[in-house]
Amino acid sequence: MANPAAIDLGDVSVRLGSVQALSGIELTILRGERVAVIGPSGAGKSTLIGLMNGTVPATSGRVHTLGCDYRRASARQLRATQRRVGTIHQRFDLVEQLRTVHNVNAGRLGAWPFWKAALSLVLPRDLKDVHAALDRVGIGGKLNERTGDLSGGEQQRVAIARVLVQQPAMILADEPVASLDPARGLEIINLLLDLSAEENATLVASLHDVEMALGRFDRVIGLRAGRIVFDRPAQQLNEGDVAELYAFEQDLRQEA
Ligand code: ADP
Repeated sequence: MANPAAIDLGDVSVRLGSVQALSGIELTILRGERVAVIGPSGAGKSTLIGLMNGTVPATSGRVHTLGCDYRRASARQLRATQRRVGTIHQRFDLVEQLRTVHNVNAGRLGAWPFWKAALSLVLPRDLKDVHAALDRVGIGGKLNERTGDLSGGEQQRVAIARVLVQQPAMILADEPVASLDPARGLEIINLLLDLSAEENATLVASLHDVEMALGRFDRVIGLRAGRIVFDRPAQQLNEGDVAELYAFEQDLRQEA
């Protein structure tokens, strides 16, 4: 295998309008690793996740995901890689008016020819896989429910099922529990950790909850003002590292 890393970023910078969202990012994540990205609001966590799934282009530097060089890949190579990367968002990104079966099937739209995708809106396709995915996330009985009628925790489970039907090599989660209460949030994190292990998939999750990151992930990356401040096994981090990461946010709060 040419590049065994799931993620390989070399001196990556991202500029969004007038904002330098990321600067000089050097990062390698191996296949199968489970990594949390923490840092204050505006640190660049979402931008980093976007870089990894190819929705945010790098301004400069090297971006390789699952061996695909995003900056040089053809549209076809890019699509093939993106099909193997499943992303979960804070706000779930589901169509609330649709039944859960359609939202889960949306995970496969990129892999289906247009006629099949269009037909699936009228006549849901490959229901066995959808059912199995919903079963694995603990809501097997909700196949035909209107998605908007489900609770926040259940909607995030639908979003995870949508990723599962992609058979992902990598799962990216951008603040996946920020809209949930702590107990539901912990259940979702545990589910993501269990499923990524079962799928043998790499997991990268950005989290605002530091305790959750330190207690459950093998490796924690601290991001602040677009730069990596630390990148260490969770057990090697101490309170000082975390306090320093959020120090600027505390300064701002004290000034306010
Ligand atoms: P986080 O996820 O850690 O809160 P983001 O990656 O969302 O941080 O944002 C990093 C920086 O980039 C912030 O300063 C944010 O305001 C800025 N930013 C994000 N998206 C855009 C955009 N589309 N245009 C301009 N600036 C942006």
